[in-house]
Amino acid sequence: MDLPSTAPLPDRCVNCAVRFQRNVRRQLLSEATAAVRKLISVWISRELDPLDAVCDKCLTILQDSIQTTNTLRRYGYGNICIPCGSLALRAHQTHDVPVDASERNIILQWLSPDEVERLQHVCMSCWMRATRAVQRNRQHDDKRDFKIQPIDAGDSSNSPQPPPKPTRVEPAIHGALSTINMTNYKRAASSNSKCIFRLCKNVPKVLVPTILKEKLLTDHSFYVPQCARICKYHLKEPHNNWSSLYSASNCSLFTASQMDDLCSLLKSYANRQYNIESIIEHNSTLCNYLLGITYCQFMELLIKIPHINERVKSPKTSLAIYLMKLHTGDTNERLASIFNVAASTVARTFNIVKQCFKTN
Ligand SMILES: [Zn+2]
Ligand SMILES: [Zn+2]
Ligand SMILES: [Zn+2]
Repeated sequence: MDLPSTAPLPDRCVNCAVRFQRNVRRQLLSEATAAVRKLISVWISRELDPLDAVCDKCLTILQDSIQTTNTLRRYGYGNICIPCGSLALRAHQTHDVPVDASERNIILQWLSPDEVERLQHVCMSCWMRATRAVQRNRQHDDKRDFKIQPIDAGDSSNSPQPPPKPTRVEPAIHGALSTINMTNYKRAASSNSKCIFRLCKNVPKVLVPTILKEKLLTDHSFYVPQCARICKYHLKEPHNNWSSLYSASNCSLFTASQMDDLCSLLKSYANRQYNIESIIEHNSTLCNYLLGITYCQFMELLIKIPHINERVKSPKTSLAIYLMKLHTGDTNERLASIFNVAASTVARTFNIVKQCFKTN
């Protein structure tokens, strides 16, 4: 659900926007002194409502500002998620909001104008909410595109077919142009209630990570739709028979939005230089999937091989290559494509880290 684009709710501080909770106490402004009420009213540029409240830190700042006559606006809690007001103290619980990200436009709709300049990062759940909204908008745009096409084609049987859109693959086109029958790709069912392994009876809890979708698409010509899920067993099992997904699927009909998504996966796979250090640090599920251990365990291992700093330029990436090779058994070529290095570099890095473990 998107947050309503209204002014701050009464359960949040009207100044710093933190959400009131056990360790963040609410101070009703109706009970504050006239001087405090006047100053906060100036800061938030509006008359106060009866339910308006500030957090205890902001109240202290307000009182201090009045005493020292320093009336510049300051915030009690700075390191929070502005859209939802949750305390986001640790880096792995937040996501930066880059100026050129589509998500930023969505998030800005959730903020009041005076909050915009404070926006730097959001909590992971707000980021996911924004990502879903971006995807929904894309799908919506896509449906709109496709409604137009049958009208064009039906105008006259002699009229030339419109050229295919540059990002779409277009083999056999079916009936109302709503689906495309692919000859070399198959896909998982568009279902959020079943694991992508069709016969699996586990409850699928996890959205399929993009890095895994790219692997399935590029290595096995198997597309995983956006809503599809995988069970935790199959996500963590390093020896899955991924190619069985293709052979077990009989679904080769793709909708337009699935085609768009497929193309963007191929594109991101081709363009992305994996920042593996950031991925494993910020996504515990992926860290476990790729390396077979948690990020904490990863850091503990790194400390155990201090000599690695003298041997390689990026110790974390090197250790990640080593662990991923052990955990997934992927070929050097496959790892090379993930880490965007030569296969020989993967082999050399693996041996260096192995030696580091031996000498310690
Ligand atoms: Zn506050
Ligand atoms: Zn949030
Ligand atoms: Zn499963």
